[in-house]
Amino acid sequence: MYHLECIQCHKKYSAKEVIYTCTCGGLLDVIYDYSQINITKNDLKGPLSVWKYRALLPISIDPVSLKEGGTPLYRVDRIAKSIGLKDVYVKHEGMNPTGSFKDRGMTVGVTKAIELGMKTVACASTGNTSASLAVYGARAGVPAVVLLPSGKVALGKLAQALMHGAKVLSIRGNFDDALKLVRDLCDREGFYLLNSVNPYRLEGQKTIAFEIADQLGWKAPDRLVLPVGNAGNITAIYKGFKELKNLGLIDSVPKMTGIQAQGASPVVTAIRNNSAAITPEGHPETIATAIRIGNPVNSIKALKAIRESGGTAETVTDEEIISAQQELAYLEGIGVEPASASSIAGLRKLVNLGVIDKDEIVACVTTGHLLKDSEHVLSVCPRPMEIDATIEAVRKAVFSK
Ligand SMILES: *Cc1c(COP(=O)(O)O)cnc(C)c1O
Ligand SMILES: [Zn+2]
Repeated sequence: MYHLECIQCHKKYSAKEVIYTCTCGGLLDVIYDYSQINITKNDLKGPLSVWKYRALLPISIDPVSLKEGGTPLYRVDRIAKSIGLKDVYVKHEGMNPTGSFKDRGMTVGVTKAIELGMKTVACASTGNTSASLAVYGARAGVPAVVLLPSGKVALGKLAQALMHGAKVLSIRGNFDDALKLVRDLCDREGFYLLNSVNPYRLEGQKTIAFEIADQLGWKAPDRLVLPVGNAGNITAIYKGFKELKNLGLIDSVPKMTGIQAQGASPVVTAIRNNSAAITPEGHPETIATAIRIGNPVNSIKALKAIRESGGTAETVTDEEIISAQQELAYLEGIGVEPASASSIAGLRKLVNLGVIDKDEIVACVTTGHLLKDSEHVLSVCPRPMEIDATIEAVRKAVFSK
C-alpha cells in the first residue's frame, strides 16, 4: 500500500491520480506503509535486477522490462591509489540496456503509465532520458514524444531516440526550456510526463542503493558520490538507502555527495551558501551535456538528501572531468561518458581539499556509457595513425612515440 504526498505541505494524493506536483507546487514522494512490508536478506537472494526489489516498488502489473539493473560494482584499486584512498568502488550504470541509469526509472515509470491507462509518454531530455523513454515506449507499444535542446545532445543518445521510433523535437533553447514546454504539453494533451519530477521515476532509480548494499554484503559505503543534473538520482539513491536502514537491512546511510560541473552548479552554490533553495542559472554550460542544467527540478529533495546524510556538493571543471574520464578508461577499463566521470573528478578534489577522509569506503556512480558520446572522444583523444599497408610501416608506427 502506498500513496503520494507533498514534501512541502504534506497533502496526500491517491496513487490512482495522474499528478506530478502538489497544488501548492511542491514535489511529491511515494509513501509506503513500511509496517506492511516484510523483507529479509533471505528474500533477497538471487541475481540482481530492478525487479528483484519489487516489494519496495509501487507497481502491481507485469513490468515493461528489458532486464534493467544488475549493473557491476567494480573495485577500482588503481584509481583509489592514484587519489590516495583505500576502498573505492564504481557502480557502472552505463551497463544498463540503453547505457544509462535512466532505464531503472523508465521501467517503473513506463509500467506506471500503462497501469494508469496513459496512451502517450513524453519527456524533455539532455539525451539519456529520451533514449530510455524511446526504448521503453517501444517495449510497451506506446508512442513517445521527446523534447531535446537543439545541438546539445550527444550523438549516441540521439541515435537511440530516433531508431526506437520516438517523435524527436529539437527545441531552440536549453534543457530547462524544454522541460517547461513538455510539462505544458503533457497537461494540455494528457500525455504521461516521464521526467524525474514524476516520483515513480525515482522509485525505480532508488534500486541503485539496493544493489550497492546487496553487492557489498548488506553494507552501505561511507560515502556515495555521483553527478547531479536535475537532481533526481541523488534523491532516489538516498531514499533507497534510508529504506534499507528502516527495514533493518543495513546499519547506516552514506554521506550523499553531489558533483556538478562548474558551469552548471546551482546545487553546489546553495550548499555553500546554506540556502533553503537554489537560485536557477540562466546559461548552464559544460562539456558534460547530461548535467548541463541550470534549474534542477528536484533540488529541494536533493538539498535535503545532502544535508540530512552529512554529505556535501562540489564543482569540477570540464578539464577535470575529461582527465577523470581518461583515467577511468585507461587505468581501470571502465568507459563512461563525461558527466559520469565528474564523480571521480569530484572525489579527487574533495580528497585533496581534506573533505573526504582517507579511510572512507566510497562508491561512485558512473551514470552513462562511453559510447553515448563518441564525438567527444574524438575531440580529446589522438586520431589513429594512418600508414601504408606494409610490415615496415606497421613496425615503425608501433614503436613511434
Ligand atoms: C541524467 C543523467 C545525470 C543526471 O542525473 P539527475 O538525476 O538529473 O541528477 C547524470 N549523468 C548521466 C549520464 C545522466 O544521463
Ligand atoms: Zn503541497
